[in-house]
Amino acid sequence: MESRKLHAAILSSPGMGHLVPVLELGKHLATNHGLEVTILVVATHSSPAESQLLDPSTAPKHLHILRLPPVDISSVVNPDIKVVSQLAIIMREARPAIRSVLSSMKQRPAMFIVDLFGNEAFGIADEFHMSKYLFVTSTAWFTALTLYCHVLDKEVEGQYADHKEPLRLPGCKPVRPEDVVDPMLDRNCQQYYEYLRVGFEYSMCDGILINTWEDLERISIKALQADETLRSVVKVPVYPVGPLTKPLEPAGPKSELLEWLDKQPSESVIYVSFGSGGTLSAEQTTELAWGLELSRQRFVWVLRPPKEDHADASFFTSGSGPDGTPEFLPDGFLTRTHKAGVVVPLWGPQLEILSHPSVGGFLSHCGWNSTLESLSNGVPMIAWPLYAEQRLNATMLAEELGVAVKSKVLPTKKVVRREEIEEMVRTVMESKHGRKEMRERAKELQKSGKNALSKGGSSYKSICDVIKECELRLRSHKI
Ligand code: UDP
Repeated sequence: MESRKLHAAILSSPGMGHLVPVLELGKHLATNHGLEVTILVVATHSSPAESQLLDPSTAPKHLHILRLPPVDISSVVNPDIKVVSQLAIIMREARPAIRSVLSSMKQRPAMFIVDLFGNEAFGIADEFHMSKYLFVTSTAWFTALTLYCHVLDKEVEGQYADHKEPLRLPGCKPVRPEDVVDPMLDRNCQQYYEYLRVGFEYSMCDGILINTWEDLERISIKALQADETLRSVVKVPVYPVGPLTKPLEPAGPKSELLEWLDKQPSESVIYVSFGSGGTLSAEQTTELAWGLELSRQRFVWVLRPPKEDHADASFFTSGSGPDGTPEFLPDGFLTRTHKAGVVVPLWGPQLEILSHPSVGGFLSHCGWNSTLESLSNGVPMIAWPLYAEQRLNATMLAEELGVAVKSKVLPTKKVVRREEIEEMVRTVMESKHGRKEMRERAKELQKSGKNALSKGGSSYKSICDVIKECELRLRSHKI
C-alpha cells in the first residue's frame, strides 16, 4: 500500500440502505481526502444488486472491499424477531470475523467507522487501538431522537404512540407520537430494548458523522452540537457529512426503460418505488394502481407482489392474469396503461430513473437514501412512509422542507384510497404548488447539497475536521 494520510476501516451492517451510503463515504474519503479505506461488509445473503455494488473492479483506487463470511443466525433468530433485534444479533455474531480480518491486516486502520448497528463492534476498536466513529445513514433529527430515547424512556409513561402531546426533543422539532421510529412503537418488544441500547452506546465513540448537511437540517444539527440538555446525552462531536449518494455511473447499452423515458416530455413522469424491501398489502397495491391510472400521469412503478402485515418484506411470488397483468393489479391495468406507464418487476435502476430529465416526481417510502437521491436530482416527492424512521423523514420533507406531499392517513395505519392517491399525484405533477413551488425548493436543495460536499463546503469541512481530529489523537497516542 502506498503511504496515505490515514487508513480507515468502515463497517457496514447488512442491507442496501446501509451499504449504499457506507460505500459512498468510503469513496469520498479515498478519492477526495487522501485516505486508504477498507470497507468491511457484514452480509447474510447476497442479492444481484448487492453483488453489483460490491464488484471490486468498480471500486476506485485506495478503496478495498472485504466481504466477511456470511453470518449464520438460524439458531438465534426466528421469523417473529423484529428487524432491529435481528440486525443487532447479526452484528454481535459478526464480531469474531471482524476481529480476524483486522488481525490479518498489514497496515492496521487508525480509524474505525461503523454504521447504525455497528456500535456492537466499538469494543473491537478499543482492542485494536483505533479511534471509533459512528456514521448515521439517516437524519440529524433521527440521531437526536435515538440518543435521547433513554431519557424519554424515563420521562414518558405508557406507549409513545398513545401519548397525547408531541414528544419533546431538546433544541429540535418535537416528534409527533405517530411518527416515532418502528422500535419505539411497542415498549414491550425486544427491539425497543435493543434500540435503547443502540442510542445509549452511540455516545461512546469519538464522533458522530451524519449523512445530512447544514442547510437541510439547521435546527437539529445545531441542537446536537450546542443544546445543553441534548449535549448531556450526545457528549461527542457531531459532523454533518452529507449528502453522500451514489453518483450516476457510465452505463452500458440503454435499457428499454431508459429509451422509453427518453421519449417522454420533460418532468412528466412520476417514479414509484418503496426502496429495497418495502411492500404493500394487496388492497393497497390495487388502490395505488387505480390512483396512478386515474391521475392520467405517466409513471414508472417498481412493483413487488403484495405482502400482508410486513411492510419491510420483499418477494416476487404471485402469478399473472390472462392479459399478463399480475393477479394483484386491477384487471386489464397493464393493457390500459401500457402507453402511459412502465411496470418494472422487483428492482429498478433508481439513479438512472431519478436523474432522467423526464422524471418530475417520486412516490417514495422515504428511506433516507431514496430521499437524498431524490433531492440530489431536484425531484419533489409523495411521501409514503412504511417502516423504520420513514414517518419522521416524511414529516420533515412535507412540513419543514416543503418538497413533498403526504396522505391524510398514515399508510402504515390505513389504506390510502385511490381518490387521494390521484389527488397527490396530480398535486406533484400538475398543480402550481407541485410544478413550481415544490420543484423549485427541491432544486434549491439539490444545489445546496452539492455545494456542501464541494471543496470548501460545510460537509467537506466537517470531513476534514474528523480526519484532523483523528490524526491528532493518533499523534498524541490517545489511540
Ligand atoms: N434501490 C434501487 N432500485 C430499487 C430499489 C432501491 O436502486 O428498485 C436503491 C436506492 O437507489 C437506494 C437503496 O436501494 O440507494 C434503498 O435505500 P433506502 O435508504 O432508500 O431504503 P431502504 O431500502 O433502506 O428501505
